[in-house]
Amino acid sequence: GDQITAGMVDDLARKHFPMCMRNLHDTLCRDRHLKHFGRLQYGLFLKVLGLSIDEAIAFWRKSFSNIQDDKFNKEYRYNIRHSYGLEGKRANYPAKSCQQILISDQPGSADSHGCPYRHFSGDNLQTALLSMYSGQGLSVADLPEIMATVKAGHYHVACTRVFEITHARQGVKKGEGVGGGESVTHPNQYAAKSRELEK
Ligand code: SF4
Repeated sequence: GDQITAGMVDDLARKHFPMCMRNLHDTLCRDRHLKHFGRLQYGLFLKVLGLSIDEAIAFWRKSFSNIQDDKFNKEYRYNIRHSYGLEGKRANYPAKSCQQILISDQPGSADSHGCPYRHFSGDNLQTALLSMYSGQGLSVADLPEIMATVKAGHYHVACTRVFEITHARQGVKKGEGVGGGESVTHPNQYAAKSRELEK
């Protein structure tokens, strides 16, 4: 992706992130912390979105505003550098796909990683959908269709429908998905397509 800075993330999250990443972002803002799997899921997504290592460190340092510099440097800086392939075995870790997020590292009740379409209770999912996306055109009338898709276990189809609804103002129609009828298969694909539509 293109270069983005730490200061741009909040605005991008509100406009362009799929629910899994928006939920991690909102949790991070609220708690000034994220647990391990949440940091991993969100950090790799931000890397692929275009946050450089320096901007990533600036972003996480600013977000973890409750802790001192020495704790941040000792406990978190290494892991951020590691996810950029700058420490340890220097692997260039990709961001997780929807399939990986749906099946691996099942979140417990205190966790915020995973896919909200799959891992939230029905009530929490509906409340979160309205609070995150009503400003982009999602309304109560859209919920039954989304919830029926979720109940059938088609989580990425529900996510794709939410993409269509929240991008109707940019001309996206039902059935078009993230382009050419394609469904959401990766959080970075969702964000990239959303940013493209803004241009
Ligand atoms: Fe994220 Fe994929 Fe779930 Fe959408 S379907 S919320 S992009 S994991």
